[in-house]
Amino acid sequence: MILSPTPAFTGNEPVPRILAVDDDPVFRRSIAFALDGYRFQGREVELLQAGSVAEARAQLERHPDIGVILLDVVMEQDDAGLQLVRQVRGDLDRQDVRIILLTGQPGLAPMHDVMRDLDVDEYWHKTELGSERLEALLNANLRSHQSIMREQQGRRRFERLLQAVDRANRIQDLTGLARQLLDDVAALLEAEPAGLVAMWPPHTTGPLVIGAAGAQTELQGMTLVSGARLAGATPHLTARIEHALGAPAPTTTPEEDEGPELLLALHPGPTPRSVLRGQADTAQQTLFALWVPRPCEPDATERELVRLLAANVGAQMHRLDLIAQLDRIAYQDELTGLPNRNGLLRRMHAAGERLSTMVLQFEDVDQFSNLNLMLGFETANRLLQALAERLREEAGPDVMVARVDNDTFALLGPADQMVAQMYRDRTEGITVSDGHFSAVLHLTGAQVDLSLVTGPPEETLATARYLLNDAKRHGWGQQVCYRPGMETQARDNYRLGQALHEALRAGEIRIALQPQVWLQDGSLKGFEALARWTDRRGREIPPLTFIALAEASGHISALFNQVLEQSCQAWRLLDSLGLGHLRIAVNLSALQLADPALAQDIAARCSSAGVPPEAIELEVTESAVMVDADGATLQLDRLRQLGFEIALDDFGTGFSSLARLRGFDLDWIKIDRAFLGEIGQRPDEETLPGMIVSLSRQLGLKSLAEGVETDAQRRWLTRSGCQAAQGMLIGRPMPMCDLPSWLRKQGHLPATQ
Ligand code: C2E
Ligand code: MG
Ligand code: MG
Repeated sequence: MILSPTPAFTGNEPVPRILAVDDDPVFRRSIAFALDGYRFQGREVELLQAGSVAEARAQLERHPDIGVILLDVVMEQDDAGLQLVRQVRGDLDRQDVRIILLTGQPGLAPMHDVMRDLDVDEYWHKTELGSERLEALLNANLRSHQSIMREQQGRRRFERLLQAVDRANRIQDLTGLARQLLDDVAALLEAEPAGLVAMWPPHTTGPLVIGAAGAQTELQGMTLVSGARLAGATPHLTARIEHALGAPAPTTTPEEDEGPELLLALHPGPTPRSVLRGQADTAQQTLFALWVPRPCEPDATERELVRLLAANVGAQMHRLDLIAQLDRIAYQDELTGLPNRNGLLRRMHAAGERLSTMVLQFEDVDQFSNLNLMLGFETANRLLQALAERLREEAGPDVMVARVDNDTFALLGPADQMVAQMYRDRTEGITVSDGHFSAVLHLTGAQVDLSLVTGPPEETLATARYLLNDAKRHGWGQQVCYRPGMETQARDNYRLGQALHEALRAGEIRIALQPQVWLQDGSLKGFEALARWTDRRGREIPPLTFIALAEASGHISALFNQVLEQSCQAWRLLDSLGLGHLRIAVNLSALQLADPALAQDIAARCSSAGVPPEAIELEVTESAVMVDADGATLQLDRLRQLGFEIALDDFGTGFSSLARLRGFDLDWIKIDRAFLGEIGQRPDEETLPGMIVSLSRQLGLKSLAEGVETDAQRRWLTRSGCQAAQGMLIGRPMPMCDLPSWLRKQGHLPATQ
C-alpha cells in the first residue's frame, strides 16, 4: 500500500481535540498521563474527558473540533459505549470523528460484530495499549480525521465557489457585485467578511472603492488618495492597491499592524464581442483589485480558491463595467453629464402607462448660436454646463433633466411637479456664469401634457420640437403649450409649404391692386399691391397664412420679388396710360430688413424693370421696425436715400413707443383699419385715429387710413386732416387686367382711352 503523506497542518486549520470516555477515573488518569506532552504534527493536542455517555455527548456538542474518541465499551451499562457510537454517527451526524473502542471485557462486545455493524475505526483491549501504541493509534486516526476534514472542506468550498459564481452572474450592478464578492470570499475562507474591492475609472485621481466590508466598511464609495490615511486604509495599502491597478510599484513601507493579506488584480477576460461591437474604440477596460486581510499567511489552496472565484466574478465585473460605459456613451450627454435624447426616450419608454401622468417641457436657449459666435465655443459650452446644473438644481426630485440637442434641454416629470418648471418670468432670463463670464440666457419653453398625446415617445419629442420652433417665431422667452390637433395643423402647414414652394417656382403668386386716394380732392394716389395665391385645387389661401408660411420657410424674399416684379409691370401699365405719377405700394416683411443687401437689391430690380424709385412705396409693419431697430433703420434709410417712399403699416397694432418713432425716417403712417370703428363713437381727439393723425402731423409725416368702408369714416378722416385713404369704399383689390376698366369707370382716365 502506498501511503500518500497528508500534508502537515496549515496555519488556518484548527488542531483537533481528543475525547477520552471511561467511567473508570483511574483509566482516564492513566490516559492523561500517557498523553502528557503528546503533539500531533508539531502542535499540542488537547485531551478532553467524559465519565458517562451523557457527559461525552455534552462534550461533543460543545466541541465540534473533536477528532478522535477513545471510548470504553462498558460503562454504566454493558453497551453504553456502543450507544454513544450510534449517537455520534446518528443524530449528532459526526461522520468525521474517528472512534477507537476500548474494552476490558472482550466477551461482552464481540469485536467482529461491532466492527461490522458500527462505524468504528479500531477496537482494542485496554491492556494492549501501552503509551507508544496509544500515540501511534492517535497519530493514524488524527491523520485520517484530518484528511476527512480536508475532503469535506474541499467539497464545501467547491460548492460555495459554484454558488458564488452563479450568484455573481445574476447580479447586475457593479457595487452589489463587489460587496457580494467580499461575502463570498469570506464564506470560502470560513471567515468574517473584510477587505475591499476597488476600481480605477478613467479620468479619476485614484482608486474608487466599490465594495468594502469589516474594518474597511467606511471606505465604501470613497476614492483612495495617495499618501493619505483613511479609516481602514494605510498609505501603504493605498499604494499597493494603486499598484495592482496599474500604478508604479509602491515606495511606501508596511506599518507594524499590517498583517497577512490577499491582494489580487482582477484581469478582464476576453471582451464579449456582442457588447463591444462597433464601440471598441470608445469603451475602455477598467481594472479591478481585491484586497482581503487574513489572520495568518494564506496557503496555496486558499490563494487558488480566491483566485478562481475572483477570476470568475472579475469577468462579470468587467462585463458590467463595459455595459455601464456603453450605457454612458449611448445615453449620456458628454458635455453636461445629463441623459441625452436617447436617455430621455429610454425613460419615456420605461414609464409605460405612467407616462400619461407626466409632462414634458423643452427649454431652448434663445440666440444661442449668436452666443457661440460671440464668446467662442468653449465659453458657450461652459455656460451650457452651468445652465444644465441650474436646471438640475431647480428640477423637482422626480423630474428628469436631459439635454436633447445642442442648446435644448428637456424636463420630464409628474404633472404636479412640472407646473413649477414653467419658468417664472421668462422675459427676465436666467443668469449663468462659468466663473469668469456671466450671461443672461433667455429660454423659450414648450410644454406637452403627455395625457393629451397618444403616439410613441419619438413622436412626442418631434411635437415638442415643433412647438418650440413655432414659439421661437414670436420672439424671445416664449412659453407655449401643446393643444390637441396641432400635429394635423403642422402636417397641413408642411404640405402647404411644399405647395407654396411649387407655386413660387411656377410663378403662380399674383398681385391684386387696391386703390388709394387723396382725401382732399379725391384724386388717385396709387395702389397697394397685395399678394394672392390660388392653389392647384382652386382654393384661395389667405395672404396672412401663406405670408407667415413663406416667412417660416425662407421663401419670403422670393415672394417679395414676384410681387415687386408684377408691381413694376403694373406701374408701367399706368405709365403707358399717362398715369406715371401714381405709386404702387409693396409690402416688405420684417425678416427682409435683416438682409444688408436689401436696398441695393430692390433698387436694381426696379431699375432693370425700367421703374423709377419714386414710383414705389415700401410698407413695413411697426413691429418689424421695433424688433430689430438698428438693422431695420439702416435698410430703410438707404431705401429712402435711393428715392423710395416708406410707409409704416398697421400703425397702432404693434408696440411702438411713439417717442421712438422720431428716430425713423418715414413718409407715411398707415392707420390700421382696426381703429376706424372708433370713429363717431367718442369725441374726435380721444379716438386713436385722431391721435395718430395729429401725431403724424407733428412728426411731419403723412397719414393714410386703411380699411375705409363708409362715407362717414371718409368724411371724418378728411375733416381731421388725414391725407389719404384705402378701403372697400374706394375700391376692392383687383387683378392687374381689371385696372384700365376700373380707372375709366372711376373717371381717372378719359372714357375713350
Ligand atoms: P395690409 O398690408 O395691411 O393690407 C391691407 C389688408 O386689408 C389687405 O388684406 C386688404 O385686402 C384688406 N382690406 C382692404 N380694404 C379693406 C376694407 O375696407 N375692409 C377690410 N376689412 N379689409 C380691407 P389682405 O390682402 O388679406 O392682406 C393681409 C395682409 O397680408 C396685408 O395687410 C399684409 O400685411 C400681408 N400681405 C399681403 N400681401 C403681401 C406681400 O406681398 N408681402 C408681404 N410681406 N405681406 C403681404
Ligand atoms: Mg400693407
Ligand atoms: Mg395694413
